[in-house]
Amino acid sequence: MLIVQKFGGTSVGDLERIQNVANRVSRSVKEGNDVVVVVSAMSGETNKLVGYAEHFSKNPSVQEMDMLLSAGERVTASLLSIALQEMGYDATAMTGRKAGIVTDLHHTKARIEKIDPITMQEAIKKGQIVVVAGFQGVNGDGDVTTLGRGGSDLSAVAIAGALHADLCEIYTDVSGIYTTDPRIEPKAKKLAKISYDEMLELASLGAKVLQNRSVEMAKKLNVNLVTRTSFSDEEGTLITKEENIMEAPLVSGIALDRNQARISLMGVKDRPGIASDIFNKLADAEVNVDMIIQNKAHDSTTNIDFTVPVGDLQDAKKVVNGFVEDGEINDDSYNEDICKVSVVGVGMRSHTGVAARAFSTMANNNININMIATSEIKVSMVIDEKYAELAVRGLHDTYELDK
Ligand code: ADP
Ligand code: ASP
Ligand code: MG
Repeated sequence: MLIVQKFGGTSVGDLERIQNVANRVSRSVKEGNDVVVVVSAMSGETNKLVGYAEHFSKNPSVQEMDMLLSAGERVTASLLSIALQEMGYDATAMTGRKAGIVTDLHHTKARIEKIDPITMQEAIKKGQIVVVAGFQGVNGDGDVTTLGRGGSDLSAVAIAGALHADLCEIYTDVSGIYTTDPRIEPKAKKLAKISYDEMLELASLGAKVLQNRSVEMAKKLNVNLVTRTSFSDEEGTLITKEENIMEAPLVSGIALDRNQARISLMGVKDRPGIASDIFNKLADAEVNVDMIIQNKAHDSTTNIDFTVPVGDLQDAKKVVNGFVEDGEINDDSYNEDICKVSVVGVGMRSHTGVAARAFSTMANNNININMIATSEIKVSMVIDEKYAELAVRGLHDTYELDK
């Protein structure tokens, strides 16, 4: 078998753990597999580098940021390769560029455009263990790019797709995908399987156990994806096609996203095209808009509320200010003390009342719902951040996910 194994930050968090990873890779090789390893930076390392840059500038150039942040993954890839060589293996460490990962020009959240796997394939053919620095690629200008936070997951899935690997294993600090973040609800249960679509919703709605773009790519390329822990041999969770799951539960999981901010625009001029103008400008500024609510005010204006990731708030403010200056918006306010809790499950397609039960759970816990959004397989609610954990545990109970 050809297996891609990705080890996250905690799994390579110190030198002993890197040795532990080397031992695990060695076991897979001894079982007769070809192994390509993808590594993250040591845990905390990427944040540390961000902090270093912020010491010098509030707004460092994205090109320099990418060169800086990609360094963390190079450290672990080289150290792991050295550890494997010391154990007698022919290992070779590669940057994203050498692994053939070509991206678009969007620094700090680049998209993979293609992978030219020939260098990796030649190394595998020679019997080498390929160790790739995750989270990075090279753009058409020859500059290093990074793939957005958590992007090593995407590196692993994309490489598995390009190499037609039999399996892509994501090793992390929990033993699989749980019904909710086990750090918030200790009663959370590990799922044996979950569909790509449900996992994509959970990841997009805040479950950072897998980066959402990696799940999207896994679905597109039909990659056999397993999430498991690097600290034991416990079985993980298979992320797979919906038809491979015999009995889909009504609700599969609860996700929490603390990283959201709410923007309220008051006294917005009520004219055709205003929403189009505002949201197109936001899109041009790469602001990721999520929930949107529009209400008519008493006068001839409207109010528009929407949510964005906290990281996009400054860019959004700039856009909004332009409309305020032009007199098209009277007043704007911003609230970062909110969060989004979501209930996800493909069973919602064929059952009614799931949303109503979610709202009752909030009511019973005296939590006010600020915004609501639904899709075929999810119900999301924006609430005050201080109720985040209460809401997650309440919903987990309501749908009896611990059973
Ligand atoms: P890595 O550094 O290995 O990439 P991450 O920290 O990115 O690991 O992701 C693992 C974390 O995701 C877990 O420690 C857990 O707290 C969190 N998490 C959130 N939601 C879930 C979930 N539904 N199932 C499992 N883990 C989850
Ligand atoms: N080191 C990067 C991050 O912290 C990428 C990753 O770990 O997947 O976001
Ligand atoms: Mg991660």
